[in-house]
Amino acid sequence: MARIDEGLKLYKKGNVKVELFDDDLMIFTVKGSKDEKYQISMNENMWLCDCDDYQFRSEREPGSFICKHIWAVLFEVMEMKN
Ligand SMILES: [Zn+2]
Repeated sequence: MARIDEGLKLYKKGNVKVELFDDDLMIFTVKGSKDEKYQISMNENMWLCDCDDYQFRSEREPGSFICKHIWAVLFEVMEMKN
């Protein structure tokens, strides 16, 4: 399954928790499919996640990769901005 679809699934299950929501800094906790928890943050327009997928993929170019947890958060943010 594509990361965007997995993210949508996590979002629909209500796995996204907003910890801090500011214009220049946002922090979220996302519960993964096996109940593990990840911290996602957006600072100065750069999205970060502490999962292995993100750490591995964004090694070359930090902030260039969107993992399923960040997708889940993006759906949540779109809902909040609506
Ligand atoms: Zn992640």
